[in-house]
Amino acid sequence: MAQMTLGKTGITVNKNGFGALPIQRIGRDEAARLLHKAFDNGITFFDTARFYTDSEEKIGYALSGVRDRIFIATKTMSAKVEEFWSQLHTSLKLLKTDYIDVYQFHNPAFCPKPGDGTGFYEAMLEAKAQGKIRRIGITNHRLALAREAAESGLYETIQYPFSFLATDEEIAFVNRCRELGIGLIAMKALSGGLITNSAAAYAFLNQFDNVLPIWGIQRERELDEFLAYDKNPPALDEKMRAVIAQDKAALGSSFCRGCGYCLPCPKNIEIPTCARMSLLIRRAPAAAYLSEEWQGNMRRIEECVHCDHCKNHCPYGLDTPALLAENLKDYRTFITK
Ligand code: SF4
Ligand code: SF4
Repeated sequence: MAQMTLGKTGITVNKNGFGALPIQRIGRDEAARLLHKAFDNGITFFDTARFYTDSEEKIGYALSGVRDRIFIATKTMSAKVEEFWSQLHTSLKLLKTDYIDVYQFHNPAFCPKPGDGTGFYEAMLEAKAQGKIRRIGITNHRLALAREAAESGLYETIQYPFSFLATDEEIAFVNRCRELGIGLIAMKALSGGLITNSAAAYAFLNQFDNVLPIWGIQRERELDEFLAYDKNPPALDEKMRAVIAQDKAALGSSFCRGCGYCLPCPKNIEIPTCARMSLLIRRAPAAAYLSEEWQGNMRRIEECVHCDHCKNHCPYGLDTPALLAENLKDYRTFITK
């Protein structure tokens, strides 16, 4: 079983973390069964967020009995310092614990620092002094901000989307985090469902000893797959490198990652799915996306009022309304074939 230490945090865990965003979509007992199975098979790092509806509650329900043998990372998206405290107290209560191992600012628009006038970083320090949190982390989808956080020396972990679709710049950033002793928590290792070869995704990330992937798990077969890779890691051999190169070339660089940071849309367009429909119908089993319901969701793109909220909030700099229009056009052609 591969172990790793997350930067200088002193957190040593199995090199597979449990990403607890998807357990929002399943029942409490089913989630508890998955969480237990993960723990019983050596997974001890669980990443959640106050923003993930009942994910924290499910972790508290399932794992409070083994609290001292696991590490919990959660996140706050608070807009004010008072909210920081109320969210932290809610998280502690739902997680049935009196401390959080890694408390992270959840994709903030700026890098909180002491003396910046917001009081956020000071609140983190105070929470640490009170023993309510043990390490300070940050998550972000923007490379420039993640870099700023790394170089600031203020963060013990950084959570960033990292998969084999990473650019050379992103790989350099991950290596820089290693030099700085910062633990890199990798989210979106399957790029929001666009990477369908999980063995290749695993093999790629396995070569970075400072990177802890948190696999988003909703189904038992997904958990079983990663547990099997843990026992018999897929090799990053020439064949696997060729698969990765082919997949990277097919996706290009300006594709929607499905992160949802462009929401809400005033016209309720399901942007994170609609803006990558062309890829989904070709890479995932298409049937689910050709239903009446999805045809209706895609038609809603025509109602776009070009307010540019999505474009201005996309961390990947995508021209989202244009991407939606392209996807709708392609979807219609695909459906009439
Ligand atoms: S530009 Fe269109 S798709 Fe984007 S948020 Fe506005 S209405 Fe929604
Ligand atoms: S358009 Fe941008 S912000 Fe919206 S889901 Fe896609 S990648 Fe994320």
